[in-house]
Amino acid sequence: MHNPLVDRMRGFGTTIFAEMTALADATGAINLGQGFPDTDGPPEVLEAAQRAITDGHNQYPPGRGIPALRRAVAEHQRAWYGQNWDPDTEVLITAGANEAMTATILALCEPGDEVILLEPAFDSYWASIALAGARAVPVPLQGHDLRLDPDLLRAAVSPRTRLIIVNSPHNPTGRVLDRTELQAIADVATERDLLVVTDEVYEHLTFDDHAHLPLAGFDGMRDRTISISSAGKTFSVTGWKIGWVCAVPELINAVTTVKQFMTYVNGAPFQHAIAAGLGLPPERFEQIRADLQAGRDVLVPALAEAGLDVLPSQGTYFVTADVSALGESDGLAFCRSLPERCGVAAIPSQVFYAEQTPRPLVRFAVCKRPDVLAEAADRLSALHR
Ligand code: PMP
Repeated sequence: MHNPLVDRMRGFGTTIFAEMTALADATGAINLGQGFPDTDGPPEVLEAAQRAITDGHNQYPPGRGIPALRRAVAEHQRAWYGQNWDPDTEVLITAGANEAMTATILALCEPGDEVILLEPAFDSYWASIALAGARAVPVPLQGHDLRLDPDLLRAAVSPRTRLIIVNSPHNPTGRVLDRTELQAIADVATERDLLVVTDEVYEHLTFDDHAHLPLAGFDGMRDRTISISSAGKTFSVTGWKIGWVCAVPELINAVTTVKQFMTYVNGAPFQHAIAAGLGLPPERFEQIRADLQAGRDVLVPALAEAGLDVLPSQGTYFVTADVSALGESDGLAFCRSLPERCGVAAIPSQVFYAEQTPRPLVRFAVCKRPDVLAEAADRLSALHR
């Protein structure tokens, strides 16, 4: 049979994550490829999910999410960022951040519209833009520090631009956009009257003195920003797929119209558990952040010792390294050989670019147990020997 897949989804075959995970399994390598933790999240949150099942919260929740979780999201935005969202009209619960992003793009983009995104970009954005029949317009982050150049952003805007997608803290690079970069995005959006979608799933996972600044809090941005986050990363429950959107009622209504025909609803007992999780005291969030930072601090010196050039890792589950210092120019070939060479699997960052040509950047996950990271560090530091 010839390939039955619609044209616009050609080019989105099996993901590299599946390939590298299969390779790790076949070779017994430590899998620092796919970004999921190997420990469970806070016991309070896990117990709340079990209680919700026992208490009978097992049927369809309301379309926009249970009121307790919408209130918890609104309260979280107020307590952490000083933002005010009405839980009844300005908050929507989704099947993870992915559904939120896909529903937003499908709800707001006509075929042929342009969507600006910072490159490299999380792989699902490209697919969602393609699904909508829209056109991705990448703005490459620049230099060793992978910074946003406001002139490149300005130059990318055209009369067809519908959305700018921003992701900070940023997967795959580990960058946390700073106030200057975010202000530049806000300036372009307000000058050109554009909507901005921000993916903030790593909002609580920032390192050292890098803090997450939500774009909706910048002057003139509240009415034009669709803020997306989810519980998976913050609470180490990536399999639960509970996400949310905050935006003004007109935008929430538009996204809800599409979302209701994708999943309608999901994860009733997990919605109760995340309502409890979002209300945990700040010290619990700090612990999760500090544990991840400790993981980064195990892996970064090992990568440097192995001769890789490590880029700034300011947050997220990830560290990015440049392998050109090892005389390698193709991250994909490097990642395919790494399990054999030293028993570690990683992800070539070229899969996060529009043009999947060879690039020397490689992404390593740090969201693993300390003993696993120590062993991976040991294996990696043997690379140059
Ligand atoms: N956005 C980014 C930047 C991510 O890294 C991920 C998970 N890898 C997601 C969205 C997906 O989040 P969820 O599981 O909540 O759909």
